[in-house]
Amino acid sequence: MANDSACLWCWQRISILADGGLQRSEEIEDCEVRCNPIGFDVRIEEGRGVTFTAVKAQ
Ligand SMILES: [Zn+2]
Repeated sequence: MANDSACLWCWQRISILADGGLQRSEEIEDCEVRCNPIGFDVRIEEGRGVTFTAVKAQ
């Protein structure tokens, strides 16, 4: 399952993949132009699909 989002730093569009077995996790993805790492708070809710909240990773 892919989810399109945008880099919080440079607004480059990025796609992240969710592991369907996860209930909740935090993912760190590199921006596609590698400006900065991006953190995602991933929530998988029954009947509601997957939601991603992007956060600025330090
Ligand atoms: Zn970026």
